[in-house]
Amino acid sequence: ATTLVVGALALSGCAGSGGGGASGGGEGDGGLIGVAMPTKSSERWIQDGDAVKAALEDQGYSVDLQYAEDDIPTQVSQIENMITKGAEALIVASIDGTTLTQVLQDAADADIPVIAYDRLIRDSENVNYYASFDNFLVGQQQAWSVLNGLGLTELDGTPIADAPAGPFNIELFAGSLDDNNAFFFFNGAMDVLQPYIDDDTLVVKSGQTDIEQVATLRWDGETAQSRMEDILTANYSDGSQVDAVLSPYDGISRGIISALTDAGYTVGAEWPIISGQDAEIDSVKAINRGEQYATIFKDTRELAQVAVDMAVALLNGEEPEVNNTTDYDNGVKVVPSQLLQPVIVVKDNITETLVDTGYWTEDEING
Ligand code: BGC
Repeated sequence: ATTLVVGALALSGCAGSGGGGASGGGEGDGGLIGVAMPTKSSERWIQDGDAVKAALEDQGYSVDLQYAEDDIPTQVSQIENMITKGAEALIVASIDGTTLTQVLQDAADADIPVIAYDRLIRDSENVNYYASFDNFLVGQQQAWSVLNGLGLTELDGTPIADAPAGPFNIELFAGSLDDNNAFFFFNGAMDVLQPYIDDDTLVVKSGQTDIEQVATLRWDGETAQSRMEDILTANYSDGSQVDAVLSPYDGISRGIISALTDAGYTVGAEWPIISGQDAEIDSVKAINRGEQYATIFKDTRELAQVAVDMAVALLNGEEPEVNNTTDYDNGVKVVPSQLLQPVIVVKDNITETLVDTGYWTEDEING
């Protein structure tokens, strides 16, 4: 039902564009802002799109919100369309961060500022600002959650004094190599895990530890599931157990869980510790059931507000607020960034992190 509602919003945003149908009585001039999102196949982008649209409309702007179903040419032509329709600013969560160079040149030629949303857009001078989370910290938190599940550290990475010696078998997954975030997540996680691999507390039985070996194109859960199946067949047919899996995203975690279940693992003592990201509702339920150990909550409502504040500031001739001007080099320039703080979610703090903040209701989680 959520998808249908959002689809309708996207359509109405489209139809209303250029009509000056500003609502909400904000400061905006009713001008059009283009919002390009990668896909509706993952819940978080639907929430992002909804939140950005609502916040812009609140400020009196009209919105052309488009989803590209992870197809790069579709995203490029959607952005072209926004430019043609006279968009005054663009907020873009890219599919492949390297494929927008030409269309962003067209935007720059038309004096349209561009905000990279969540994912850095690479290889272009024409990215004005970047709104995201501290993505290296996300990776560290994913690794800390795995170590915590194994009894080795606290959730903030502090070593536990009488921790078990291991060794624990771990397998590693990363995201899509065309997404700049995938490198930040994996590098953050390996920064934490490498010392434990070096001293043999953690053993990667498959031997697959390079990001190129462990990446998952388009963050696809089924791709992750078949890689996990292959790893189990090739490395764990001798009766040994997987104790932990580093997963960068809830959809990938669900693929991993399916592979483990199909291979005969059952939730309980020998079930592996599995990380995640995005606090998707199905994965929050999986955490409650003990299938997934943790996820990383990134409040899409806050991110949307940051991106909208940036766009509005630029349109008013003001300088957007940033808190990082060093870390996000897109290959051509360092893009000034406003980074939000991610939060680790485990079974014990679901209520505090997700219900008390109004992100999910108790009913949605238990329903
Ligand atoms: C986002 C993550 C998301 C992943 C897959 C990344 O760029 O930062 O929140 O899990 O894409 O959609």
